[in-house]
Amino acid sequence: MGSLLTAVASWLDARAGNGRWLLRIDDLDTPRVDPDAESEILATLTAHGLYWDGPVARQSDHVAHYHAALAKLAERCFACRCTRRELRGTDRYPGTCRTLSLPWEGNAIRIRSEGRVEFVDRVQRACSPGESTASHRHWGALDDFVVQRRDGFASYHLAVVVDDQAMGVDHVVRGADLIDDTPRQLFLIDALGDARPSYAHVPVIVEDSGVKLSKHNQATAINRRFARRNVGAALTLLGFDPPDENIATILEWAIDHWDIARIPPSPVVQGFTAIS
Ligand SMILES: [Zn+2]
Repeated sequence: MGSLLTAVASWLDARAGNGRWLLRIDDLDTPRVDPDAESEILATLTAHGLYWDGPVARQSDHVAHYHAALAKLAERCFACRCTRRELRGTDRYPGTCRTLSLPWEGNAIRIRSEGRVEFVDRVQRACSPGESTASHRHWGALDDFVVQRRDGFASYHLAVVVDDQAMGVDHVVRGADLIDDTPRQLFLIDALGDARPSYAHVPVIVEDSGVKLSKHNQATAINRRFARRNVGAALTLLGFDPPDENIATILEWAIDHWDIARIPPSPVVQGFTAIS
């Protein structure tokens, strides 16, 4: 249901803005990719009336783009041999390997970065200290973060930035649990000389305990037989009052009534009871 909420919001934002809605499968982490997961995702989207434009993109098709981007950033990067254990308890990378000139082979690659990055979010009010709560301007302090993992795969941050650029993405609508990643991704976008997309971070659904609904905490898969009610519930959580109609009519109504300012400017929404 949490994923559906984000999908509905991004689909409506694209449709109401006469944009295209692009679908990308994040399959970079090959050992962990479940072969059945992709067909499940596509079936769930279409059952809920959420059709995408063009072919399905895959991160595994963009590997050459990641290498090209890393080459472009190479002068600002350094190899790091710190283990997860050595970095435990530090929320910022302390710069241990910055000046060691370690070989890239077999090490993680970090990019030198400091200062802070500012951006405006279309949904979330600022939560940074000293900022007006009515403001939608956010900022995040940077540290030297990983752009290529020790195993040679692009980091998540580098991958999504390069993917978005390759696909011509100019609007990102995603869950608010990812808002803290945005400054790092904007730093990479600026460093690569690419155009910044606009961002809208929609609330994530939490259980009454405050824990995010996800497959990590055994949230049940959404039931496609109740697609109409699921779409209605997603719209209600997004701040709309949809008509009791079939899916196509509800979605048409929602395109006509779409106003991103109605989405609660909160990182979470609560009190949802799953229909199963
Ligand atoms: Zn290090």
